[in-house]
Amino acid sequence: MVVTAEPVAKGIWWLAGSGNHRSVVFEFDDHLVLYEAPLNEARTKAVIDKARTLSPKPLTKVIVSHHHFDHSGGIRTAIAEGLTILTHRSNETFFKALVARQHLIAPDALEKNHRQATFEFMDDRLTLKDKSMEVQLYYLLDNPREGTNIYAYVPRDRILVQADLYDATWLRHSWGGNVLQNLDTRGLKPEKSVPVHGVIEPFTQMVANIKAKPGT
Ligand SMILES: [Zn+2]
Repeated sequence: MVVTAEPVAKGIWWLAGSGNHRSVVFEFDDHLVLYEAPLNEARTKAVIDKARTLSPKPLTKVIVSHHHFDHSGGIRTAIAEGLTILTHRSNETFFKALVARQHLIAPDALEKNHRQATFEFMDDRLTLKDKSMEVQLYYLLDNPREGTNIYAYVPRDRILVQADLYDATWLRHSWGGNVLQNLDTRGLKPEKSVPVHGVIEPFTQMVANIKAKPGT
C-alpha cells in the first residue's frame, strides 16, 4: 500500500499512490484535517499514517464526502484512530449503524479496541477557518446521482476538492452539468480541481472535458 503526499498549496497535500482513491490533508493553526477515509482499513490506516508524517500537529478530523464505500469504507478505522467524522447529516443513520455493528469474522481496529465515535453533521454549508486555513464545505444540490455529497473549496487558492463530481477519465460526465451549476450557484470560481479520483487539473480543463463529453 503506497501513499504519496504531493504538496498542492501551502498547508494542503494530495495523498495519492496506489489505487485511485486519493485523500487531501489541510493544515490549520494547531491541527490537521483529512478529506476522505477511503475504501477499507488498510487504505485509510496508510493514509492516516502518512498524514501524521506531514506535520507534528495532531490529525483530529476527517471530512467524509458521501456514503459510497470507496469514500466511507475507512470510517471505523478513522474512529479507532481517534478522528472525528464530519459529514452530511443525511449520512447519520447509516454511518452510526456502520459504527455500531460487530466486526467478528475479521476483526478490525475498532472491534479490537472499542472507542466512542464522535460525529459532526453539516447541512447546506460549513466553513472551517482559522488564521492558517479556510476550507468551505458545500452540500451538492439536486444531484441526479446521489444526495449525500459534500465538496470542499479553499478560497485562498481557489482549489476545488471533490469526490465523484467529476473524473478526467470518465467517458461521459452525466452529472457534470449539475456540478457546474452547483459551483455557479455557490458563487465559486475554482482555478484548480483536486479530486479523489483522477488527476489534478486546471479547472478550465475540467469544464472543457465536461462540455466535450456531456451525459447522454
Ligand atoms: Zn468514488
